[in-house]
Amino acid sequence: MDAFFDGRLAGLRPYVPGEQPKGDMNVIKLNTNESPFPPSPKAIEAGSSALKKLNLYSDPTVSSLKRAIADSLNVGADCVTVGNGSDESIAFLLVGFCENGALLNDITYGFYRVCASLYGVRTSIVPLKKDFTIDVGDYEGKKGTIFLANPNAPTGIALPLSAIERLLASDQDRLVAVDEAYVDFGAESAVSLIGKYPNLVVLRTFSKSRSLAGGRLGFTISSPAIAADIERVRNSFNPYNIDMVAQRMGEAAIRDAEYFERTRNEIMRTRAALTEGLKRAGFSVLDSKANFVFASPPDRDGGSLAKKLRERGILVRFFDEDRLREFVRVTVGSEGQVQALLAAVNEIYGGAKSNA
Ligand SMILES: *Cc1c(COP(=O)(O)O)cnc(C)c1O
Repeated sequence: MDAFFDGRLAGLRPYVPGEQPKGDMNVIKLNTNESPFPPSPKAIEAGSSALKKLNLYSDPTVSSLKRAIADSLNVGADCVTVGNGSDESIAFLLVGFCENGALLNDITYGFYRVCASLYGVRTSIVPLKKDFTIDVGDYEGKKGTIFLANPNAPTGIALPLSAIERLLASDQDRLVAVDEAYVDFGAESAVSLIGKYPNLVVLRTFSKSRSLAGGRLGFTISSPAIAADIERVRNSFNPYNIDMVAQRMGEAAIRDAEYFERTRNEIMRTRAALTEGLKRAGFSVLDSKANFVFASPPDRDGGSLAKKLRERGILVRFFDEDRLREFVRVTVGSEGQVQALLAAVNEIYGGAKSNA
């Protein structure tokens, strides 16, 4: 640490993203939950035509993208705010809405804790059950803003809407941010509760189900009052946080419902095949409602499996942490990628059960 660096940040341990190989055409990349499909052709066209106007600033109110998001979810445009990736929206919530600290699960999206520490937000940890499920009763009597990924990461396990509603109703003075990064792959969304619970913020992203991870777009849905306060934070941080190309691409992507339905259904079909193939090879696989599965190999050594797959040109995510070491997280790629992964797995654990 340099002597000029703020001593208050001495303990900062930044988020470590999954590996992004450079120019390596032959790698099968199943480590960061990206979509195997390109963006919607309509999004590509809309983004391309924005390039020649980049001499101008982007719309600081992001109004037409907000309108498209609001239309697709049947909420008012004044309920929507847009972030440079949902990571930025998470940061806005941590900066502006966590006077009483933040409540996080022990196993969840790692960025919450990192970002909280950057902004000096106190965190308390609520452990998941042994089977990685969440009991919303465990938040009883605890103060602070809840950050809850549903489906959770890296487990893929989803909470039913009834449990989210119980959590919202149990303390209406406590804000609950439900991070629905993966909700389009089969879980129930809390957006339907927005009008009923002023203590709810839903976070979404274009990175997974909209095939736009590199476009950096996320958004929140909440009461108009909360949305206005998120905008106060955003406009005090970076009023032009969404570039013009991303605004155009996002709008076209969200209006292309046909492409969205086709690609997410394909992912859900491939997830079933991946789960089935891994189980046949002797893995235990958690019940996933996301575009990845969290699976434990027959020898329960996730680290060694990740290494062996890497030697075969296949990247998966391994978390070298308590409770997670027995697993790897595998993104649901294209059908061909998943077949290649299953072939490699069967070779590694060869002699076990065949995948035929
Ligand atoms: C991927 C992911 C995000 C981040 O999404 P971006 O929009 O790409 O910043 C947020 N939350 C969870 C749980 C995620 O898995």
